[in-house]
Amino acid sequence: MWKELAQRILDGYQLTRDEGLELLDSPDSENLQILDAAWTVRRHYFKNEVKANVLSNAKRGLCSEDCHYCGQSQHAQDTSLKFGFISKEEMVEQARQAKKTGGRRFCVTMAVRSASWSAVETLAEATKEIKQELGIEVCACMGLMTGETGKAKLKFLKDSGVDAYNHNLNTHEDLYEQICTTHTYQDRLETLRNAQEAGFSTCSGLIIGLGETKEQIVDLALTFRHEGVESIPVNFLIPVEGTPMAERPTLQNLTPWKALRYLCLFRLTNPSAELRASAGREIHLRSLQNLALLPANSLFLDGYLTQDGQGAEKDLAMIADLGMVAVAGH
Ligand code: SF4
Repeated sequence: MWKELAQRILDGYQLTRDEGLELLDSPDSENLQILDAAWTVRRHYFKNEVKANVLSNAKRGLCSEDCHYCGQSQHAQDTSLKFGFISKEEMVEQARQAKKTGGRRFCVTMAVRSASWSAVETLAEATKEIKQELGIEVCACMGLMTGETGKAKLKFLKDSGVDAYNHNLNTHEDLYEQICTTHTYQDRLETLRNAQEAGFSTCSGLIIGLGETKEQIVDLALTFRHEGVESIPVNFLIPVEGTPMAERPTLQNLTPWKALRYLCLFRLTNPSAELRASAGREIHLRSLQNLALLPANSLFLDGYLTQDGQGAEKDLAMIADLGMVAVAGH
């Protein structure tokens, strides 16, 4: 049945909400069939290729927002390193390192509610140099971009050569108020739509493990499809000490196979999207981590914004062991 469904999806059929729920609810004995269905679809669009992205934390910590999972919020009692905006020169140097590491997309992230004009201009300048010297893609993640000012900043970034804009929806609309009180789900959705309107390839994902129901996860997968999101990072919550989410029992609740099921769900609902097995894959998928690249076709090399990953060397070895290759973006 799952194999047939994969074939129908390749013929243009869209997975329904009920089928999404069935995928999450079906017995363990169907694990491999579901994984094979997701792999069938993933292979059709992306062959054996894996898109490798590298993150830059261009402004770390002291963010005014109170996202309850985030150690970079000024409301979090997180003692890890915090610093202000890095310079244009530092961004370009980080991009050089990212390319050397094997990255094909350089994702510049700032812990801010909404980046100032000066931060926007710095990234725009850096992007021009990065594109000219290194030829890799640049993705900006600079917070909310709402209203006319947000639109103007997005246009400026787009005109400077930035390829993609990231703004995660993070969780379901109905749960949003419980994980953040300083901005709304609608603010995030508006930012995503403005980025699309500015001509960006959009990147938007979620964090699994914030207390959402499986229905809400399926709804989010359908929302990304509805919004035409081209790149979807699927993160699994890493509870950060000092945040309200520190005690969430994610490790007990999220087994490796459950995490794989979620990735399969996102692949089958968003067949041609770049699907990224993102933060938390190391701790939640554990020894099954390499299987994530059967539904997903993308990852972050060399760790995350505030958490270490397993290191670029192991990431690249994992790709090679699967008989896959790291590639430039689509
Ligand atoms: S807006 Fe971003 S950086 Fe700021 S607290 Fe929320 S997730 Fe963290």
